[in-house]
Amino acid sequence: MSDVDELKRLIGEAKRIVAFTGAGISTESGIPDFRSPGGIWTKYRPIEFQDFLASEEMRRESWRRKFATDETMRKAEPNAGHRALARLVGEGKMLAVITQNIDGLHQASGIPDDKVIELHGNSTYAACLDCKRRHELDWVKQIFDDNETLPKCMACGGILKTATISFGQAMPEDAMDRAHDATAEADLMITIGSSLVVYPAAGFPVMAKRLGARYVIVNREPTDQDEIADLVINAEIGATLSKAVGVN
Ligand code: NAD
Ligand code: ZN
Repeated sequence: MSDVDELKRLIGEAKRIVAFTGAGISTESGIPDFRSPGGIWTKYRPIEFQDFLASEEMRRESWRRKFATDETMRKAEPNAGHRALARLVGEGKMLAVITQNIDGLHQASGIPDDKVIELHGNSTYAACLDCKRRHELDWVKQIFDDNETLPKCMACGGILKTATISFGQAMPEDAMDRAHDATAEADLMITIGSSLVVYPAAGFPVMAKRLGARYVIVNREPTDQDEIADLVINAEIGATLSKAVGVN
């Protein structure tokens, strides 16, 4: 049996699938990942949360980067990989998609908000660090375009940041709780397009496996969790998932 047929069989047998996705599922939509050649890290070192808080220049740099790459994210559309997962959710076989991605493409593929768990937030809008109020990026850009003026919260004057979780920033409690609950229920966990090096996020597949779920990894490159997986497929995500799920 080929690896893809084996994945198809595991999906067929499962009743409570949970997906754990990373930047790799969105590269086929034109959004670069972090760690591949040409990925974002070959250009920028990430700005840590403490540095963002400590310096206006870091905040400016962070908005500069955001608006330099925002066009790509706005234009991006879900690809075959996202659509395959949406199909499984629609069929009631997939409980949830736990994602490290911040691009909103799982929701855009038709998965309802309550089944997408964003561990690292969302970069398609901004939020106040004090009162959490949401602000749209178009509004932030208008302000920033005037001589790189830093935007302030309309409600409380607090610091605005894209609604993402930076290195050094606390994980979102609600998303972590939901991810725990989904992981505890999973009978099949599928990691898709993640290098599995960012913790605590990468701990969820390990937890699922410990609790008795079957574990599959679909990723172009090997990962540190390959040895605990029941099946590892080193191939392109869109083609693999569309064959395994039977959609294009
Ligand atoms: P990563 O960049 O560390 O790893 C991505 C993995 O996907 C790599 O191992 C790569 O080999 C694989 N991959 C890429 N394209 C693939 C394809 N078409 N088919 C098969 N495999 C493919 O990403 P990560 O593990 O998600 O960690 C990076 C962090 O960066 C995340 O925490 C996330 O918040 C953030 N990030 C998000 C986005 C996004 O939202 N699209 C993009 C870049 C970074
Ligand atoms: Zn505020």
